[in-house]
Amino acid sequence: MTAPLSRVYPIKIPFSLLTPLGPVQRFVFSFLIATGKSLVLIDAGVSGSEERIFRKIQEIGRKPEAIRLLILTHSHPDHIGGARSIQEATGCMVAAHPFEQRWIEDTQCQERERPVPGFSGLVGGPVTVTRLIHDGELIGLGEGRALEVLHTPGHSAGSISLLLHPEMVVFSGDTIPVPDTVPIYDDPKETLLSIQRLMNIDQVSYLLPSWDEPHEGKEAYRVMQEGYAWVERVSKAVRDMSEAYPGIEPLRLTQIVVKELGLPPDAANPMVTRTIIGLLPEGLKDFRKIRS
Ligand SMILES: [Zn+2]
Repeated sequence: MTAPLSRVYPIKIPFSLLTPLGPVQRFVFSFLIATGKSLVLIDAGVSGSEERIFRKIQEIGRKPEAIRLLILTHSHPDHIGGARSIQEATGCMVAAHPFEQRWIEDTQCQERERPVPGFSGLVGGPVTVTRLIHDGELIGLGEGRALEVLHTPGHSAGSISLLLHPEMVVFSGDTIPVPDTVPIYDDPKETLLSIQRLMNIDQVSYLLPSWDEPHEGKEAYRVMQEGYAWVERVSKAVRDMSEAYPGIEPLRLTQIVVKELGLPPDAANPMVTRTIIGLLPEGLKDFRKIRS
């Protein structure tokens, strides 16, 4: 039996995602780590999440101004949405991997290049990345504790996970896709390598993903394996369906793949089309020129 999480606080943030077929209820996690005097926040939820995050901080007897560092696992709207307000309210440093910096600091550019439906409602504005963090870097927390930065690309080029020492808690961001939910990643091969890398960590006590509940010990490894198998299953479905329907328009292919995978029709959104394009054999990637 694993020891309960200590001085790490998951904050579950509900939000609705607009899809062409109507709003879908989702949630994302942010995480607070309490250190001697200060707090480190991992991810900032969607716009407005600061209220829920600050309430949690008060519940544990601290003040929001105690946040000294906000680490963004990547630049997507449900991770950076509240960052600007939190930075303004607390004056904290904001850290991210260099590959995510542009989309965090220029959210209009992100919206143009990756048009998540309802983007402007999810993101409270751009924020400046004041600390660039790289693979292998250790962020000291005092009292012998540290966060190790693991560059785990695939979902996005600069996606990171964080490993809390000595507790061996893994914060995986969106690195591990959740089986039977919409597959969203830019690069399937990188995604598999990144999941493999997390699976190779010994003695993980907790896995804390952004889009899933916390998982303890053995359960954590099972979840990683299932995420890996899901990526392989999605890849196979895309390969099979693109062969069965050669030359098909990308959004239509998305609908067929979504059905093949047993997902609800509203899963056929532009983000999934982006995943599917990334999975197509080289010769078919001219789809990129077609707007879906
Ligand atoms: Zn994401």
